[in-house]
Amino acid sequence: MSESHLQLARAGLYCPSGGFYIDPLRPVERAIITHGHADHARAGHGAVLASAETLAIMAARYGPAFAGRTEVLAPGERLSIGGVGVSLHPAGHVLGSMQVRLDVAGRVTVVSGDYKRQPDPTCAPFECVPCDVFITEATFGLPVFRHPPARAEIDRLLASLALFPDRTHLVGAYALGKAQRVIAELRGAGYDRPIYLHGALEPLCALYAAHGVALGPLESVGDKGRELAGEIVLCPPGQLADRWARRFGDPVCAAASGWMRVRAWARQRGAELPLVISDHADWDGLCATITETGARTVWVTHGAEDALVHWCGKQGLNARPLNRIGYGDENGIERPDTLSGPR
Ligand SMILES: [Zn+2]
Ligand SMILES: [Zn+2]
Repeated sequence: MSESHLQLARAGLYCPSGGFYIDPLRPVERAIITHGHADHARAGHGAVLASAETLAIMAARYGPAFAGRTEVLAPGERLSIGGVGVSLHPAGHVLGSMQVRLDVAGRVTVVSGDYKRQPDPTCAPFECVPCDVFITEATFGLPVFRHPPARAEIDRLLASLALFPDRTHLVGAYALGKAQRVIAELRGAGYDRPIYLHGALEPLCALYAAHGVALGPLESVGDKGRELAGEIVLCPPGQLADRWARRFGDPVCAAASGWMRVRAWARQRGAELPLVISDHADWDGLCATITETGARTVWVTHGAEDALVHWCGKQGLNARPLNRIGYGDENGIERPDTLSGPR
């Protein structure tokens, strides 16, 4: 791995010159965190460098003492750590999500974290950062994964609501990123009624709103049930098949996830109305991004590595999979049994 400034250590990606890890899986002295999803942002590090939003998300999930000390790095601002130039650049994944750019004597490595190329009204758009070595995620790294525009999926939800005006429309969406995006896309489509939230989604929706993301009127589900006929209710995906959902009588169950492309997944989690809305780049997005960075060396992590490594090889790029055990616990692999929040 001498071609990069990073090496793979037990706790994760490590930069020996700078003495820091990126998204380490276990507590370390110094960490740079790309974004707030639980499989990237863990509590207990000595020091955390991240965007202001990511630090706020970590504090909301883990409590204010989640790290020994914290440091904000604004997007595009440069810092030198042990001779390594460090800067953060928007990844377009969730609020505050950043790619990490490392520069030593003009040789540049970029760690993408999780990213997507589709527009998202709830976070800054992905910025393509030219580099020599690009470390990309590959959650949807198979050609079968092509995400339609989110707006088209939201239109399907609204069409169902028009067709079944007496049924609650229950949408399973992860607490960080997906829930807020579904809400913002609904607002963009002109839906202005209150949207009802399961309690587990409330804190991060409030955090997004406090950071200036317009979500419109939101209300708690609380004890309400059948009186929410004809309304849109958001809940963690795991609640769709749970007793909790029965309070709504005969709801239309929808789930928002890139995995909804796979029919069996949709069925498995009880999603009558699968909405293909993802926080990750699809196959075309991954390939286009790798090309745009101009990187000659690509490390592939966090999902279906093999197909993307093979594709890189065909483009004449030097590519290899980075097996990172422990990733993909949250939105990385949107598993049906995963609930959001600290674990
Ligand atoms: Zn993520
Ligand atoms: Zn991830």
